[in-house]
Amino acid sequence: MQRFVGFVYRDIRLRRHQGQPHCIAITLESHQGIRGKCSRCQRPAPGYDRLEEREWLFVPLWGMATYFRYAPRRVECPEHGVVIEDIPWSEGKRPVTRAMMGFLARWARRLSWRETAQVFQTSWEAVYRSVAWFVAWGLAQRKLEGVQALGVDEIHWGRGKRADNFLTVLYQIDRDCRRLLWVGRRRTQATLRKGLKALGPEVVKGLRFVCSDMWKPYLQVVAAEAGHALHVLDRFHITMHLNQAVDQVRRGESTRLRAAGKAERLKHMRWTLLRRGSRVRGRARQKLQALLASKLATARAWELKECFHQLWKYKSLLWARTFLDYWCSRAMRSRLEPMKKVARMLRSHEELLMNWFRAKGEISGGPIEGLNNKIRVVTRRSYGFRTYRAMEVALYHTLGRLPEPESTHRFC
Ligand SMILES: [Zn+2]
Repeated sequence: MQRFVGFVYRDIRLRRHQGQPHCIAITLESHQGIRGKCSRCQRPAPGYDRLEEREWLFVPLWGMATYFRYAPRRVECPEHGVVIEDIPWSEGKRPVTRAMMGFLARWARRLSWRETAQVFQTSWEAVYRSVAWFVAWGLAQRKLEGVQALGVDEIHWGRGKRADNFLTVLYQIDRDCRRLLWVGRRRTQATLRKGLKALGPEVVKGLRFVCSDMWKPYLQVVAAEAGHALHVLDRFHITMHLNQAVDQVRRGESTRLRAAGKAERLKHMRWTLLRRGSRVRGRARQKLQALLASKLATARAWELKECFHQLWKYKSLLWARTFLDYWCSRAMRSRLEPMKKVARMLRSHEELLMNWFRAKGEISGGPIEGLNNKIRVVTRRSYGFRTYRAMEVALYHTLGRLPEPESTHRFC
């Protein structure tokens, strides 16, 4: 049994509904010799009166809904006057015990919220409110010490491309701790400013690296607010831009080929083209070889993208710069507009890109990519979420690595 100092379990009854066991009701009473505590200052105070009996949903036992029943006292605190007593299993006016909220929140990380509600015979709303409580507790208790590397990322959410369909996320991407620190709506300067403010000046001051994409509002804010940290354009995002460019070339060429009745040559190639060449095997490999021999624009774009990976292997800044210069001039001569666009973008951000090499291997693209993928899993699952707030709660819950309220009892 879960023990509460000052309270005793009086009786436990199986309630029946139409002859079938239906739920379990556990009645609690206050201990006769122990005075109730003021809910505001936690100090014992003389009793005043007793309110009507209330019910709280407890963790289900033997697959049956279980309730706590208790008639709360009011106490007369010398400082706070007549107030309701402190009830250790209760959280404000919520009809669910803390143990049950923790129970639902822990399960909601393994199952979807809807499944959690179904399995434990409660509502989606109850699961959501439990997780929200769990997350709020964790955010209030979390310590933001030793954050040295910060990742800034934009995530697309839901349908459409309106400003509200984007989120700005801040990650900690230190080697020993990778977690979501903050989420905000939109991807504007104001959003990022708000995020950095939420982390607090101490955290921002302690940053050594900031990793982000080439999204202009971010670049400006990072320069203004965290200019002391080394700002690195990360590998994951640059690879993404290259892949998008190859895809654009492929789509354009596909349309032209289809008009000429030769669409076969590029069919079903999309995913093969987006993978690293060394990871393409089997029949896809044969098709790719045939494509490369074909002198199609898509083949040339793919070859440029593949060649770019060489950059990340350099240790020396000088060689990296030389290579980048070589690659960009090749891309500019390629007559492939999407590839030229990437080249121009890289050139205009050359110094930030070179910071990758100045960071000397302390930053890797892996953590951003990993967290980015996990966020997508949650936001995609979140099509069932009706509000932005619910999704925000889900993201902190699954990726925030937040401290959890201690439960005397482990139910799962
Ligand atoms: Zn008090």
